[in-house]
Amino acid sequence: MPFNLADDLTQRREAGLYRQTKQLRSAQGPNVETEEGSFLAFCSNDYLGLAADPRLADAFHQATKQYGFGAGAAHLVNGHFEVHEALESELARWTGREAAVLFSTGYMANMGVISALLDKQDAVFQDKWNHASLLDGGLLSGARFQRYLHKDLDNLETKLLRSDARRKLIVTDGVFSMDGDKANLSALSSLAKQHDAWLMVDDAHGMAALGETGAGLCEEQGVTQNDVAILMGTLGKGFGTAGAFVAGSQLLIDYLKNFARQYIYTTAMPPALAASTLTSLKIIETEPERRDHLNRLVMYFRKEALAMGINLMDSDTAIQPVLIGDAEQALSISASLKQKGILVPAIRPPTVPAGTARLRITLSASHTVDHINQLLDGLGALRIPNDNASKETP
Ligand SMILES: *Cc1c(COP(=O)(O)O)cnc(C)c1O
Repeated sequence: MPFNLADDLTQRREAGLYRQTKQLRSAQGPNVETEEGSFLAFCSNDYLGLAADPRLADAFHQATKQYGFGAGAAHLVNGHFEVHEALESELARWTGREAAVLFSTGYMANMGVISALLDKQDAVFQDKWNHASLLDGGLLSGARFQRYLHKDLDNLETKLLRSDARRKLIVTDGVFSMDGDKANLSALSSLAKQHDAWLMVDDAHGMAALGETGAGLCEEQGVTQNDVAILMGTLGKGFGTAGAFVAGSQLLIDYLKNFARQYIYTTAMPPALAASTLTSLKIIETEPERRDHLNRLVMYFRKEALAMGINLMDSDTAIQPVLIGDAEQALSISASLKQKGILVPAIRPPTVPAGTARLRITLSASHTVDHINQLLDGLGALRIPNDNASKETP
């Protein structure tokens, strides 16, 4: 066989890095059914517990009566429904931006934005821990690709100073997806302004979960469109639906609609999905108690876990990773938890750097304090390596 696929897979297996899907048989929520049984789950990004909210299903169902299922065409051809337009303007209003544009997935949004804005004459500066879709967008664009050390603004500034690129784009996760820590957006914004660069923030894990009205890390840190020119959010996490959007100036959004190939050459999201996302947005804005409850769970979990000597990473968000280090060990701890009926995924390279395999615990507003206690009991019963010296560094 010309391609040695089997060998590659064997290598992955031997390194403890082989990955497989599991099948869910129930809706997303604290308790899930899989083909292996019932579990208490700490592994979704459904931060507000909206993925199975019946109001979203109702909105979807109602909308299908009017619009049917598929959009039938790309946005610019004949697939842009009034409900897409309504969702775009609501997302723009909510994020305090002039305009917004929908994408079918966050992966496509990131690829689309970066490759539409930059080419060979340009440079992109990315935090080393940015999401794969941002890194891939940078590579696809052909721009000079530079990664700066995680949240290290001095390192970023050195690279900016050395650059004579036409356009300079700084790109960062808002909340880092595998670590749960947050970017300092106002500091990044000042640096961007000093160096005539633009700042793009991917707030996949901040939207819905952070800020007074759930508008994410920008809202929490009080930065505006003037600071973050390009704001990207996903709808498949805290929103509980699917898809993504980019928000910014009217000019930026008009530009993206004309130049982002991942927007142009793909079928629009189903209109009923836009309708249920509008319902989700209304819940996000009007039920802040979901965020309050989630925050209380996060604080409670951290206090108890740290008291037990568990090696938590430095995060105050719903993403609460436990650093293990070795991939096989992370996998075996995850398997032991599963035997106790608790689902917590082991995140291994290449998703995270070698030697920083971890349990990625995610909390949701649908969890109760009792669920957290069950998790703490489960963790307490295991021998989790605890190296306090490396507590705050992954
Ligand atoms: C999940 C995620 C994406 C991709 O979004 P999808 O809509 O799932 O394709 C992009 N960026 C970050 C930081 C993410 O966590």
